[in-house]
Amino acid sequence: MTPVVREVRAKSILTRSQIYPYVINPYTGCQHGCSYCYARFMKRVTGHREPWGEFVDVKANAPELLRKEVLQKKRDRVWVSGVCDPYQPLEAKYRLTRQCLAILADNHWPVTIQTRSPLVLRDIDIIRNAQEFEAGFSIGTADDAIRRLFEPSAPPISERIAALETLHAAGIRTYAMIAPVLPGAQGLAAQLAGKVDFIVIDRMNYHYADHIYREHGLEEFLSERYYEQVRRELAAR
Ligand code: SF4
Repeated sequence: MTPVVREVRAKSILTRSQIYPYVINPYTGCQHGCSYCYARFMKRVTGHREPWGEFVDVKANAPELLRKEVLQKKRDRVWVSGVCDPYQPLEAKYRLTRQCLAILADNHWPVTIQTRSPLVLRDIDIIRNAQEFEAGFSIGTADDAIRRLFEPSAPPISERIAALETLHAAGIRTYAMIAPVLPGAQGLAAQLAGKVDFIVIDRMNYHYADHIYREHGLEEFLSERYYEQVRRELAAR
């Protein structure tokens, strides 16, 4: 699906967040368009009429803003990103995430990168040399058939795990974010072994994707029992 792409000028880029002290979203909208995505509220905030996943506003002035804002704000950890994937396909062309990471690294700001895309490997030179950068992948299942049901436009699971392995082998602190816990997450503990420094697990029950569970007879994987099974397996790894 080719998204409707608009280049826009943002008013600010380094904003306060409830998850980490700051967040940077170089894009509004996300080409991955995951079925369960909580960030779809951005449609309402920005007045977009297109379905979630089919529009992207490119904040073309993000690096220009960030260069000023890192000098004006108190240094603290920055989440890249919160309501978009910083390495969605358009980043290959626009390189906004790369430019922002370079500015944060030059100014010694700590950064937590979160993505579903191996495009992050393009920036391994910046990430490896920065002082307090960590990079993680969102991976909700070990089963790529399940991934295709819930996240058809996001990169395959095997590519994410291979990218984590490369980052980890490069000496970068890595993590996996398992949220939501999709069906087929039971095998993740084994697949992630030796490739991550830590794992975060969260139910993330936003219910946008409940219809997929119903349509494919997967309701048992919405249960507390299943979540606890995966959580215990990951805790014991
Ligand atoms: S990659 Fe993240 S921000 Fe993008 S659609 Fe999926 S869950 Fe939402």
